[in-house]
Amino acid sequence: MSEFQTCPHCGKPTPEENLRCIYCSERLPVNSGVIGGLRFGRGRSLFLIVVALVLFGFFALYRLF
Ligand SMILES: [Zn+2]
Repeated sequence: MSEFQTCPHCGKPTPEENLRCIYCSERLPVNSGVIGGLRFGRGRSLFLIVVALVLFGFFALYRLF
């Protein structure tokens, strides 16, 4: 199963999971496609973990004083 995106360089349909266009071999934007989605998801969960740790630290300090 592969979705197609239009290459911004030559305008031809290229499989979304490709990092480079199969026609002109120019780099495709990473924020689209399966890989971009995975990266975004990972970054988002990392951000949530950092926020949770900061909140936990805040509560620990609040209980100390
Ligand atoms: Zn292209």
